[in-house]
Amino acid sequence: MKFTHLKTFKIEEILPRLKSHKQDSKGDKSLTVKVKGTTYKVLINGTKLRAFRRSRKCASCGIEGNLFILDRQEGHKRVRIRNQFHPNVHINLYCHNPEKGQNYILMTQDHIIPKCYGGRRGDHNLQTMCIQCNHEKKNIVTTDDIKKLCSTKEGRKILKESRIRREKKRLKQLVVTHDLEKE
Ligand SMILES: [Zn+2]
Repeated sequence: MKFTHLKTFKIEEILPRLKSHKQDSKGDKSLTVKVKGTTYKVLINGTKLRAFRRSRKCASCGIEGNLFILDRQEGHKRVRIRNQFHPNVHINLYCHNPEKGQNYILMTQDHIIPKCYGGRRGDHNLQTMCIQCNHEKKNIVTTDDIKKLCSTKEGRKILKESRIRREKKRLKQLVVTHDLEKE
């Protein structure tokens, strides 16, 4: 994916505006930003931003997103603007520390229990990961992931409702060693 950076924000400019899953139905779910005479209206209640609301640190390598950027995704031939929403314009989170050699590393959302195993879209099944760790993770569920879910009531519910128990024996890529039966 190729992005054009339209406007950079400090973390505190965006973070307080992000909404949780429960808050989704209430209040304004959009952010309006003016850049060089163009007004962009973007949604701020998607799963990605909900993951960033909970944590800006990559769950795997620990690098932390420190910039929000209004990005335009390139490659769309023709984009229709509906109700002032630009479907190809999004708020992205980046880790940018040039002194450490970290240059605009895109942060992404990860479903702890992948959707293909029945992992739900609730906030407790979301974690932040840098793009590289997310690529490496694929559909692997680690012991740490399971432990993380087991530490909260909502997480245990997500685990229970997923198909992890049933599929862990069948699927080799599922690295689950934590004893699920005890949970
Ligand atoms: Zn990472």
